[in-house]
Amino acid sequence: MRFDVVTLFPEMFAGVASLGVVGRAATAGEVVVRFRSPREFGHGRHQTVDDTPYGGGAGMVMRVDCVVACLEALDADAPVGPAGAIRGHRILLTPRGTPFGQKRALELAAFPAITLICGRYEGIDERIAGFIDEEVSLGDFVLSGGEVAAMAVIDAVARLLPGVLGNPDSLASESHSSENGGLLEYPHYTRPVEFRGLRVPEVLAGGNHAAIDAWRRGQSLDRTVTSRPDIAPRAK
Ligand code: SAM
Repeated sequence: MRFDVVTLFPEMFAGVASLGVVGRAATAGEVVVRFRSPREFGHGRHQTVDDTPYGGGAGMVMRVDCVVACLEALDADAPVGPAGAIRGHRILLTPRGTPFGQKRALELAAFPAITLICGRYEGIDERIAGFIDEEVSLGDFVLSGGEVAAMAVIDAVARLLPGVLGNPDSLASESHSSENGGLLEYPHYTRPVEFRGLRVPEVLAGGNHAAIDAWRRGQSLDRTVTSRPDIAPRAK
């Protein structure tokens, strides 16, 4: 799968694109991450990409022409598949978008390519709406730029791709997974068996797999109801 990112700060992605699960997937060729900066298409000696808002007010607005030129340049360079050049499904990161979640991450993992558009300043000129496929928000708060949100989408989607996680079984029991009924995951323990008087639950060391499965299921239900009563009704 390919991730194309429109960003003024590609350096911010150095960690997420080269380390951990996404880094390994990139090395193995399962994931390709490309970056392009609207600055390349900026105006004047300083390659300016922002301007003052029509109507006045605080802050600067990202120019739509620079962002669209950047999107078109990414598409013009896109690798060609059997059905022609694979254009990325365009996602604008914005606090007014649809809140991102595991369900959408799973759906996005089925796309051959997605393009993540990171705003800065007060955001991108509203006319960008005619050049995107969807708007996604990381949550009800305001970030300084779309980059952190784009990294979250890349990480959450890439780990769902076939072959990316060492043990795909771990996906099935994870929090918010549909295979787990949308519950939060059960608690994990490892050595030492006792730490400052805190012992690993006896059932986990007993080797009775049916009992372990039942205990874990009960823990998942309990912690979902306790920690996330808002998602408990839709969990099964
Ligand atoms: N003026 C905008 C508003 O009040 O809605 C906020 C602009 S914010 C400072 C700059 C950029 O950060 C946005 O264009 C968007 O790309 C990104 N951003 C901020 N919060 C976000 C969120 N919750 N989810 C996704 N992207 C976000």
